[in-house]
Amino acid sequence: MFYHVLTLFPEMITESLSTSIIGRALDKDLISLEAVQIRDYTLDKHNKVDDYTYGGGAGMLMQAQPVYDCCEAVQKFITDAGRKRSRVIYVTPGGYTFNQKMAEDFAQEEDLIFLCGHYEGIDERALEEVVTDYVSIGDYVLTGGELPAMVMIDCISRLVPGVLSNAESSMIESFSNGLLEYPQYTRPEEWHGKKVPDILLSGHHANVEKWRLEQSLIKTQKIRPDLYEAYMEAHPPVVKKKRRRTAKKPLAIDERL
Ligand code: SAM
Repeated sequence: MFYHVLTLFPEMITESLSTSIIGRALDKDLISLEAVQIRDYTLDKHNKVDDYTYGGGAGMLMQAQPVYDCCEAVQKFITDAGRKRSRVIYVTPGGYTFNQKMAEDFAQEEDLIFLCGHYEGIDERALEEVVTDYVSIGDYVLTGGELPAMVMIDCISRLVPGVLSNAESSMIESFSNGLLEYPQYTRPEEWHGKKVPDILLSGHHANVEKWRLEQSLIKTQKIRPDLYEAYMEAHPPVVKKKRRRTAKKPLAIDERL
């Protein structure tokens, strides 16, 4: 997976993603990350990349030319390396809300370009020409697209084979089965007077699984009723049909013969 982040603050990306699991994945070349300075592509002699918005209103807008040229330069770099043009994700509060399913879809790609806005955002005409996906990380407004891009890169990278060790495995986690994760405990068995539920110490695998599913359902119903409804619709309770006892019809005379 090759990530390319187009930004006015490249150091935010490279410094923040160089530690822990993602840092290790970068060191092992399981993923690669380049942060590209959009300002390097401006044709303005004062290195300007933003201007006032037409129609008035507070705030500056990133101009189309540097964004477009920067993005096209990265696409050329990718195709020159023999790979296909990349999807371009504009991180914006005006996009579809990011979720685990989207992360799974993005994780199939070889390259991903993230476009980070700043100030009031980016001139619509550049977006129309370069963007393939508009993605938000939630219903709130941040100062720039760098944190949303990092959130998405972190989430997608966990799905890249080899990035997580067995111990960090992403198989059974919140959202992977449409439910929130059950509560988990580690040593000691008792802490602050609170005991680990007996069932988890029983060694009875099937009962542990049953308990975990029950806990997931309880938690999801309370915190995310929307997910709970969807799960229950997809997994309707299995009702065992009672076999109706029908009185045997006496055979007709000719059948009995
Ligand atoms: N004027 C824009 C609007 O109302 O949609 C908000 C611009 S915001 C101050 C600057 C940049 O931060 C955006 O262009 C976007 O890249 C990023 N951003 C802010 N909040 C975001 C969110 N919730 N999800 C994704 N990106 C976000």
